[in-house]
Amino acid sequence: MNIVILGSTGSIGESTLEVVRKSQGKIKVTALCAHSNLEKLNKQAEEFNVKHVVLTSKADSIKKLNEIVCLPEVDAVVVAIVGFAAVLPTLAALKAGKRVALANKEALVTCGEILTKVAAQANAQIIPVDSEHNALFQALLGHPKENVKKLWLTGSGGPFRGKTKAELKDVSVAQALKHPNWKMGAKITIDSATLMNKGLEFIEARWVFNLDPERIDVLIHPQSIIHGLVEFIDGCQLAHMSQPDMKAAISFALYYPKRQNNAVEPIDLVKLKKLEFEAVDTNTFKCFELAKASLKTGGVAPTVLNAANEIAVDAFLKEKISFLAIPELINSTLSRAPHQALDLDNLFEIDQWSRQKTLENISSL
Ligand code: NAD
Ligand code: MG
Repeated sequence: MNIVILGSTGSIGESTLEVVRKSQGKIKVTALCAHSNLEKLNKQAEEFNVKHVVLTSKADSIKKLNEIVCLPEVDAVVVAIVGFAAVLPTLAALKAGKRVALANKEALVTCGEILTKVAAQANAQIIPVDSEHNALFQALLGHPKENVKKLWLTGSGGPFRGKTKAELKDVSVAQALKHPNWKMGAKITIDSATLMNKGLEFIEARWVFNLDPERIDVLIHPQSIIHGLVEFIDGCQLAHMSQPDMKAAISFALYYPKRQNNAVEPIDLVKLKKLEFEAVDTNTFKCFELAKASLKTGGVAPTVLNAANEIAVDAFLKEKISFLAIPELINSTLSRAPHQALDLDNLFEIDQWSRQKTLENISSL
């Protein structure tokens, strides 16, 4: 099997290369792409004997990327780019009928309806790599949709689980970057601390599983052992468990319908002893409800939410705004957003509008 890895220098990209190392030649890498770290990218290209390498910070890179994901020898494209930048290459890969192992969530959040339609037209398969969606994809296999009552996404609750809003007033970037269970890129780690990550995943699930949002719910589970849970109409519930290690989801997405030998260590349940669950604290973590509300509003709202969040998270990481300013900024941009249907003609315009508005709000703080 030949794959392309978009975002190979990041956390998911590196885990994908570990899956490739373990594959004993079954998976070959046709192309790699990253945004800036050319030295790391070249090192990876050398180790995996890769023909095509694209640095997206260079001019003309989008065209090159679109060409590479469509190469006839490519079987699957791993989309591990962070943020809205993943939209165009994902669209190109789907149009070309490729299997897309989709780790990036922002593409589905901003234009899930468009991407899933394109995938259906081109007979291309989206296999979610986001651990909760991958877990649900696995737990749903063989079950007709009419048997499903509800899908549950789990979340660890992040580094600030149990904290009050007052306690979050002065949290530092370093504190927010200390995720209890997962080692991930900076943007998703901050999203996990604000619970925006669960909100984005809620929208992602709506499109991956083509399900009414009323039938999607979220459960806090601090150990991150159960990743997703399907509730059936008869009251039975099927949960998916694995170590909190993204190699489990990545290897599943690439090997499906087969499985890779020893992709991850199984869990020692005797050692683990207990699993805990609690409801989401929507009073403290406003981002979660903002995301859900944007899905309800529909049209361009999730695109606006996503762009405002990308800008606010970037500003927090650069210590320009406080942690609690993140939901406030998103809310403010959302409240000024136009009510419009979304299509490929206004997608990029509305994304830019939201970024600009949020930047203006930051400079007037
Ligand atoms: P990361 O920051 O570690 O890596 C991001 C990668 O994308 C890097 O290779 C970077 O060079 C590349 N990139 C950044 N901007 C780009 C641009 N404009 N164009 C092209 N490439 C660009 O991020 P990550 O943690 O690996 O996450 C990647 C995606 O997967 C995110 O959307 C995240 O939400 C999702 N995801 C990650 C995890 C995880 O465990 N890390 C879990 C679930 C979902
Ligand atoms: Mg996830």
